[in-house]
Amino acid sequence: MEARRYAVLGYPLGHTMSPFIHEKLFAVHGVSAVYEKRELPPQALSEELPALRSLSGFNLTIPHKSAILPLLDQMDGKAALYGAVNTVKCGECLTGYNTDCVGFLRALEEASIPLAGKILLCGAGGAAHMMAFEAALAGGTLTIAARPSGIPRAEQLAQAIRQKLPEAAICVCTYDSLEGDFDLLLNATPAGMYPHPDAMPVEEKTVRRCKAVFDAIYNPRETMLLRTARQNGAQCGYGMPMLVWQAAAAQEIWNGCSFTAAQVSPVIEQANWEMERVFQ
Ligand code: NAP
Repeated sequence: MEARRYAVLGYPLGHTMSPFIHEKLFAVHGVSAVYEKRELPPQALSEELPALRSLSGFNLTIPHKSAILPLLDQMDGKAALYGAVNTVKCGECLTGYNTDCVGFLRALEEASIPLAGKILLCGAGGAAHMMAFEAALAGGTLTIAARPSGIPRAEQLAQAIRQKLPEAAICVCTYDSLEGDFDLLLNATPAGMYPHPDAMPVEEKTVRRCKAVFDAIYNPRETMLLRTARQNGAQCGYGMPMLVWQAAAAQEIWNGCSFTAAQVSPVIEQANWEMERVFQ
């Protein structure tokens, strides 16, 4: 049987972990597939569409997650809610999905971190957008923190959530005006990511006021934020399980298969090793 063809589209793509992770996941179910990376500048997305239709499916990352929306035939509910698509299934029509949220919720669950109570979200970009909607859907009391320059973007995000979920309890503030304790801190900024492992999005005194911390960063595995939280006895979760589970969820959509934790856990470990091999 001819191998099915998939791709990840982004710009720039650099050293994306997606081909490595998808190849390991295809092997779990014995799917014969080729997964390639296609570096595609923003203006080239619509021109590439006929070629993309010949694939079985594809993933999208920055800057294409919202730009793909008008090119799709249909979308699932979560993708429509966030206005962001990271997975497309091809066929007679192009259908968009968002599996980042599946990865995020699954990673929290595996780290035994409840998405509840007073939630502090650092950042207002793509990952933060999805996390903010999920926190609001879960009924959390959400504070979106940003640098002064990022406050307008954070306000826009808060407004987008209030429009779709009018009951949401949500406020916006700068990092230096944060007050009180939090049940959960979510980091959706690159602060602390390779090659700047000593950075944190918030001050240490804020981390010490959080019962649980989830960092979307997967390189390094333990960021300064997570190290500080762990030393303070907080429940901690990191980004690689989110990345691998969003890929597993994409394959479930493409191939109608289903993954168990026992099948995905070794892939998370292999992805950690691969990342360390490449970057350290
Ligand atoms: P993005 O759209 O560029 O958004 C980044 C956000 O972080 C913006 O709000 C930006 O604020 C803020 N920010 C940037 N540098 C900062 C700093 N030094 N201190 C405080 N805030 C800062 O990026 P993204 O796609 O959401 O990704 C954010 C992080 O999540 C990255 O580390 C990425 O690797 C990770 N991520 C992980 C997964 C996963 O599956 N594990 C998936 C997606 C993303 P301004 O507007 O002020 O610049």
